Amino acid sequence: MNNKLRFEKQVNVTKPKLPPFRSYVKKIGDIWDNNWLTNNGPLHEEFKRNLKYHLDSENIELFVNGHLALETALKTLGGKGEVITTPFTFASTIHAIINAGLKPVFCDIEQDNFNIDSSQIEQHITGQTKAIVAVHVFGYPCDVYRVDEISKKYNLKVIYDAAHAFGVTINGRSITDFGDISMFSMHATKVFHSIEGGILSFKSAELAETFKAMKNFGINSHNDNIEMIGTNAKMNEFQAAMGLINLESINEEILKRKSIYSIYTSYLENIKGIIHLKEIGNVSHNYSYFPILVESKKLRDFLFEEVKKYNLNLRKYFYPLCNDFSCYNFDSNLTPVAKDISDRILALPMYSDLNEETIRKIIKIIEYETNIFNESMLSVQH
Ligand SMILES: *Cc1c(COP(=O)(O)O)cnc(C)c1O
Repeated sequence: MNNKLRFEKQVNVTKPKLPPFRSYVKKIGDIWDNNWLTNNGPLHEEFKRNLKYHLDSENIELFVNGHLALETALKTLGGKGEVITTPFTFASTIHAIINAGLKPVFCDIEQDNFNIDSSQIEQHITGQTKAIVAVHVFGYPCDVYRVDEISKKYNLKVIYDAAHAFGVTINGRSITDFGDISMFSMHATKVFHSIEGGILSFKSAELAETFKAMKNFGINSHNDNIEMIGTNAKMNEFQAAMGLINLESINEEILKRKSIYSIYTSYLENIKGIIHLKEIGNVSHNYSYFPILVESKKLRDFLFEEVKKYNLNLRKYFYPLCNDFSCYNFDSNLTPVAKDISDRILALPMYSDLNEETIRKIIKIIEYETNIFNESMLSVQH
């Protein structure tokens, strides 16, 4: 290793953004004044209004986290049946599908943006197919127009796991404009957070009552009867307070990340063998992650281990693929592109106060260790 490049303090892939201490304390003062902690409190309602405006969405409901929001959305499909989805996602997507009583059918992904390959969706449609559950991976939108056409042709619902895609727009339209339901995660490590939290944005206004009941044990506010099997997935007032304050600076947060993205790409320009995601012309990105692809799995695994000696923690995100989890019995060989991407991917640090010097060192370390790896490979061959 090269000692000169070692970090004093550990550098991780994400770093939760905390607002100024005093602004949070001031906001939670309202909770004491209201004496209202959870169950659709005043801050919850204010947060909902502000999010509707920010996401340009007619209908939203808030949840304690993104996972339970997604699971609740999937349960409205009525259980039993298949959904076409991607293996290249966080475990949450697939666990939510299974917990909702549905069967995931894995479609391969696109080489360039890691999203579900819309040209392969139709071949997976059967008489049992209920929905397409696609993920805007790393905040890059899926082929939403093609997915829309397919869903209309076969009368399927479209649910987007938009956990990574807060604030993203396509041709000036909010990402919530696409599909029947979109789920956003507001977990501490996401671009925008409320400590933990989830949002469902949806087209059909009638779903609001269903979601409200389902996240509160199935209790319907209009009568005494419990008509559906609910859960407890309510957002509390402390979460809403954090979300309200973070929402004030989200545009600034994304701008800072945009400049970090440009610094990374300028440093990577002259390095061979490392691929990164390119910006898309008609998309306004949120720069939620900075993944790279290296040349082989061996090199990826080598870098992942070696950089720890520099106090640098990278992530194999997403690895393993969801169709490789040992708790399920699927076959990742059926999605060869996803398998290849998952084997070669590494997420680099991405957060708003990441400075240029740190980025320079991260790239130097990767370059240095890649050379060491390549030399050791050459000596093995000789
Ligand atoms: C974070 C995440 C989730 C789950 O959201 P939580 O708010 O952590 O429950 C679901 N899907 C994807 C792709 C995620 O990254």
